[in-house]
Amino acid sequence: MEHTCQCPCGTNQFSVSGDPIVRFFCHCTICQEKYDAPFADVALFKLSSVDLPEQAVTYGQYKRFVAIDRGMCDDCHKPVMAKMGAGEKGYAFIAAQNFANPEALPASTMHVFYGTRAHDVDDLLPKHHNWLSSQWAFLKLLRSAG
Ligand SMILES: [Zn+2]
Ligand SMILES: [Zn+2]
Repeated sequence: MEHTCQCPCGTNQFSVSGDPIVRFFCHCTICQEKYDAPFADVALFKLSSVDLPEQAVTYGQYKRFVAIDRGMCDDCHKPVMAKMGAGEKGYAFIAAQNFANPEALPASTMHVFYGTRAHDVDDLLPKHHNWLSSQWAFLKLLRSAG
């Protein structure tokens, strides 16, 4: 499965192959600010699955999440994708709204950073409240994804 993605203004067009490792809702304060929404709906892929010409993206690090580089579009200043690590050991976080066809993604299976939520979400998905439990949930998934 090949996914076509772009930032909101379309300056950054890119593609992602395969299925995401996980799709989740992130309630961290940085996502709230960057997406201008109560939470972000994000898919996690291996970085090697992403084909992104990076000429119009500026990556910045945010202190609370030292390992994650957030890529913002130089034109619309909205999130393009975020990176954690590099090369074969790297991962990419891409918002579902940046997919041309988000219906092709699997359903979200958890909430992370729920402790800083803007409002409660009434569903049966697991809710990881703080930094530690959220990181742990990712580590378990990454390990099982090889
Ligand atoms: Zn843009
Ligand atoms: Zn977040």
